[in-house]
Amino acid sequence: MQTPSLSARDLDVIWHPYTQMQTAPAPIGIVRGEGALLFDEDNNSHIDATSSWWVNIHGHAHPHIAQQLAAQALQLQHCIFAGYTHPPAVNLAERLLQILPSNQRRVFYSDNGSTAVEVALKMAIQYWDNKGLRKHKILAFKNAYHGDTFGAMSVSGRSVFTRVFDDLLFDVHFLEVPSTDNISQIIADIEAQQPEQIAAFIFEPLLQGSGGMIMYDIPAFDQLLQYCTSKNILLIADEVMTGFGRTGKNFAMEYVHTAPDMVCLSKGLTGGSMALGITTSTAAIYEAFLSNDKLKTLFHGHSFTANPLACTVALASLDLFTDPACAQQRIRIHEQHSAFLLELQQLSIVKNPRLLGTILAFEIVTTNADGYTNALADQLHRFFRSKRIMLRPLGNTLYILPPYCITNEQLALVYESIRELAAELV
Ligand SMILES: *Cc1c(COP(=O)(O)O)cnc(C)c1O
Repeated sequence: MQTPSLSARDLDVIWHPYTQMQTAPAPIGIVRGEGALLFDEDNNSHIDATSSWWVNIHGHAHPHIAQQLAAQALQLQHCIFAGYTHPPAVNLAERLLQILPSNQRRVFYSDNGSTAVEVALKMAIQYWDNKGLRKHKILAFKNAYHGDTFGAMSVSGRSVFTRVFDDLLFDVHFLEVPSTDNISQIIADIEAQQPEQIAAFIFEPLLQGSGGMIMYDIPAFDQLLQYCTSKNILLIADEVMTGFGRTGKNFAMEYVHTAPDMVCLSKGLTGGSMALGITTSTAAIYEAFLSNDKLKTLFHGHSFTANPLACTVALASLDLFTDPACAQQRIRIHEQHSAFLLELQQLSIVKNPRLLGTILAFEIVTTNADGYTNALADQLHRFFRSKRIMLRPLGNTLYILPPYCITNEQLALVYESIRELAAELV
């Protein structure tokens, strides 16, 4: 008797994320990765054109990351992080603070992007409370995505993801995405919300990821941030997706003149190899929690806070990230994307092609409304699966967001698959 495939065994026991298990095709069993390629159980290679849900930056099974991880695993794998500390956590905090916006002074560890957001929200609300002020209003963008836990869902746009839970989410005032045309209206809108009661504004800097790779007008966005700062509204930059070079610069906040009060990091933080979350803060936020009064403590922590293995792979990823060769790779990808963008502009099935750093996105013209539930998504997903290109559309929005090590030849194959799709759709 033949042993059943990984894919078949999976169908009996696993429940996958964001997957309608009734109708989804059987998952492809992946057994190995190398660079931008993933190999399935039949040894076919698949091009990882979306960085395994936006986390991978240096490629799969990178030897430097793997070696550092193995060495650390023989030293110290985990240790309680209250009352104790360890070299990977301290080294990583020191090195990150050197490259983050210069006003960031403290590193708080957690496990993933959603927890990094939860921590930032709790820091913001308690910051004001510790100062004797009750401010419970939060601002966020319509259509934003900040994660799947309840607090993170609350500050995310109300959508098909949150529909069932809407009544249970806390109230947030949602703003339009800024453009030159609407920026004065957005500011008037905040003005009407009694800005002195607003604790914080949380946003994905420069572009919304899950919301459909929607890019903002940068000067208008900066004007909005400056206005919030002038009203003492704390700025929480959710760089979970945009951090570590995705948008071209190290962090998306480098495109604006306003400094964030807090920054959330995850995804690319470990080069995409392990789960780790970070929330950083300014000295002012941190100092508001210093007191002889125990009630002013930030009562938050996770069992695996600052896991030494995860911090070690983040350090290994930083070694690679801060090497000038990594910036060169991002420029190369941007140039390849720019050339393909010109081609996309000529295709009748393509709407609104756009490019930011290493992210190329566009909509496929359909008769249905744009958005995550657009019926085209499944068809597109199956098409690219059959070509062994890992592109997972957001509704009818297609985007390429590759690991920085992807080769020009691999990129050319991704572009070619999109040309074939276009030929099939017209
Ligand atoms: C993915 C994402 C999150 C959530 O991170 P998880 O690790 O998936 O919980 C939060 N914010 C942004 C901007 C993201 O893209």
